[in-house]
Amino acid sequence: ADASAFLTEAELAAQLVGDARQVRVLTGDRPTGPLHLGHYLGSLRNRVRLQDAGADMFVLVADYQVVTDRDAGAETTGHALGLVADYLAVGLDPSRSTVFAHSAVPALNQLLLPLLSLISVAELERNPTTKAEAAASGRPALSALLLTYPVHQAADILFCHADLVPVGRDQLPHLEVTRTVARRFNTRYRPVFTEPRALISDAPSVLGADGAKMSKSRGNTIPLRASADETAALIKGFKTDADRHITYDPEHRPEVSNLLLVTALCRGEDPHTVAEQIGSGGAAALKRQATEAVNEHLRPLRDRRAQVAGERSLLSGILRRGAERATVEAEATLQRVREAMGMAY
Ligand code: ATP
Ligand code: MG
Repeated sequence: ADASAFLTEAELAAQLVGDARQVRVLTGDRPTGPLHLGHYLGSLRNRVRLQDAGADMFVLVADYQVVTDRDAGAETTGHALGLVADYLAVGLDPSRSTVFAHSAVPALNQLLLPLLSLISVAELERNPTTKAEAAASGRPALSALLLTYPVHQAADILFCHADLVPVGRDQLPHLEVTRTVARRFNTRYRPVFTEPRALISDAPSVLGADGAKMSKSRGNTIPLRASADETAALIKGFKTDADRHITYDPEHRPEVSNLLLVTALCRGEDPHTVAEQIGSGGAAALKRQATEAVNEHLRPLRDRRAQVAGERSLLSGILRRGAERATVEAEATLQRVREAMGMAY
């Protein structure tokens, strides 16, 4: 990816200087389970920052994308409403941010068809994130939906002309597909789409208990909604290494450095400073610090979540209102696409 394909947090802060009123943001999550610390540090925190700086924020519950690697069913509803509860808990405000589900906005999904015509199967087969997700799915065959997943994501981002997409590092190859199809459409027809940039956080890939990327599907997460005691038990089970002297060295000591970074970001400190404080205290001291920092930081969020989690009509009302606004956007974009393609009769 070329440098302009993404922004770092520091660059964002310098560019926005607290005012994001001209910026449109889209991002989303699959309703496959509860949101975790990786989502929070990798994306959610930046969403809230952007929202609070005045950005026009769209947040997608990517329900159709559940079936890229599994079957959807009754549990999808609970996961989707659970995502909305997590959003409220972290500080997304539905009166300022548009929260909606994929399946509720047919005009958005129609954009997929022209976009699919602009990319080859070979290009999709080369996508490293698709390959990793196919391997992780445990399914013997790559479904056509998983192969075209990045193009769905392109439709999600392009329908609302998003400038910025706060995502984890695993999404950068998908973002590249979005930029490519936007460019190709604009060149082949007429300029309709904005070429978006990823916003990569200071924690672009938080690791889970087993040392792999923290993922809902791997069962290696610290869910945002876990209790303080559950969090302590989960962090106790995190893989570390045998060197008692704690140092921040992401390349050579990924697991230890991950816990240091998590601790530092929760406290607003530097991971090297946290490492120095722990010194030769070993993994046990590191885990104690991490547990304290995470629990302290998440406490207000967990309190808010407890207040809204059972409010089913509140949560589904947010999705319904969000879908109305998203539909207006998607229909306007689809109309411009049809006009560009000579299909407005
Ligand atoms: P699944 O296992 O079902 O794919 P997931 O945990 O990977 O779930 P997604 O819904 O696929 O979560 O991802 C939502 C967003 O959160 C994406 O922008 C993704 O990059 C980001 N994200 C997910 N996991 C992490 C992580 N461990 N660190 C940083 N960002 C992450
Ligand atoms: Mg994922």
